[in-house]
Amino acid sequence: MALQVERNAPLAGKVALVTGGSRGIGAAIANRLAADGASVAITYSKDADAASSVVKEIERGSGKAIAIQANAADAEAVRNAVEMTVTTLGRLDVLVNNAGIAIPKPFEEATLEEMDRVININIRGVLVTTQAALKHMKSGGRIIMIGSAVGERVAAPGLVPYAATKGAVKMFSQALAREIGSRGITVNNVQPGPIDTELNPATGEWAVPQKAATALDRYGQVDEIAAMVAFIAGPESSYITGANLTVDGGMNA
Ligand code: NDP
Repeated sequence: MALQVERNAPLAGKVALVTGGSRGIGAAIANRLAADGASVAITYSKDADAASSVVKEIERGSGKAIAIQANAADAEAVRNAVEMTVTTLGRLDVLVNNAGIAIPKPFEEATLEEMDRVININIRGVLVTTQAALKHMKSGGRIIMIGSAVGERVAAPGLVPYAATKGAVKMFSQALAREIGSRGITVNNVQPGPIDTELNPATGEWAVPQKAATALDRYGQVDEIAAMVAFIAGPESSYITGANLTVDGGMNA
């Protein structure tokens, strides 16, 4: 079977939803999928101005985008965001579960409220969003998690509940890939290493051991994650499912 791929716009006619797309890795993914031809919906929880600048940037490049406020921890808001994406943009082909938080500190100092927040956004939000999206996805659909390299190996202290949620995201992806493969929908988990964003600044106190743990001796850039997501979202990744794709500068090597 020869794949017919439009090189300039491999996602032409497709619709993508990127959770937490107003800055950082999510914004880069939204921009990249739009550049590849998709119409893109992004969600955010707090910063409407940041979300609106991502939409404007995509529109300046002649793309189509919308921003929807939807806290990933709020199941009703998340379901509404999926419905609004389909109502406004007409369909749903690609879901990128990117929204996520970390609260770095020693495990024994983590409060119940902090652990609940990390679990509700990083796991519960992913499950609920995916369930809502699956109602609309057809053969060729793509579900993509932004897990983490620490979902497999943890090189430094301070990220215990976070690492546990990303390990859960990894197994969720593998289990779901088995269950919905027969529908022609793929499920994959992109696992970034240290990427320079507001969540994990390359200049912060926590950056030194992370940079040192990479084989390339540097932080990654958001576009280096977006490139992997674009490939997995596109037609050429049709036989990849249930995979954990680590993009970490060799941190877990
Ligand atoms: P940032 O904090 O830079 O950006 C997070 C994005 O998610 C923002 O758009 C933010 O917008 C949104 N967001 C945060 N909380 C919520 C919420 N409750 N509901 C909806 N949207 C939300 O993070 P990164 O870009 O660094 O991280 C993105 C993903 O990548 C996360 O899942 C993270 O765990 C993962 N990752 C990051 C790594 C890194 O080194 N940076 C490494 C490995 C994985 P707003 O504040 O307006 O809600």
